[in-house]
Amino acid sequence: MKNPLVIAIDGPAGAGKSTVAQLLAKRLGLPYVDSGATYRAAALKVLNDGIAPEDKPSIISAIATAEIQLQPSNSSFRVLLNGVDVTEQIRSPEVTLTAATISRLPEVREKLITLQRTFARFPGVVMEGRDIGTVVFPDASLKIFLTAQPEERARRRLKDERKKGREATLERTAYEIGRRDQLDAERKISPLVAASDAFQIDSTDLTAQEVVERIIVLAREKQLLTESVRQ
Ligand code: C5P
Repeated sequence: MKNPLVIAIDGPAGAGKSTVAQLLAKRLGLPYVDSGATYRAAALKVLNDGIAPEDKPSIISAIATAEIQLQPSNSSFRVLLNGVDVTEQIRSPEVTLTAATISRLPEVREKLITLQRTFARFPGVVMEGRDIGTVVFPDASLKIFLTAQPEERARRRLKDERKKGREATLERTAYEIGRRDQLDAERKISPLVAASDAFQIDSTDLTAQEVVERIIVLAREKQLLTESVRQ
């Protein structure tokens, strides 16, 4: 069996990972996987069960028995929790914050990382997250660490929120992003850090398409674009 081409795109919230990873996956004809969706589905399970945020044993056992699936759909995917489509539901602000909390628990990470690893099938995958290049796939073919200035990340997130019809202010969005950055960067396991062999790209002044082109150049330089992916 040939090794799949695994492209890891990590970085903080609002750096443009989803847009870039989806465009890149489409461009290369590979599936796109958002590892954050698995943490969000797990968080929704905890919220649906009415478990208190500090009740770790109940959180761990609820997630241990939850069936989380990502089903490819067009150039993206649908998220199923115990067979129910929760693709839209997992994007609520409540789920967002709960995901950042439960993702600190080692037992939760272990289960979800095992699930994420199953997506690395030939010919390859573009996966985005926080620890894809460091923990999920330390041997990934290409690792990108995508960043952007905090104000720009807050502006982008605000635009997304408004598009979804949610009331939000720049101040509030900036606060929430900062809070999540802190939770993700300070946690003991799988903190948000760039892998030592990751290419750092600052997307503040770049369009998503420009970021994709840079990644394609890097992939070409590493001779990763073989006949099994769209050139
Ligand atoms: O990427 P997204 O914002 O959807 O992720 C939601 C939360 O899931 C993050 O704030 C983070 O705490 C967690 N996460 C993680 N590791 C990943 C992806 C997401 O801990 N690889």
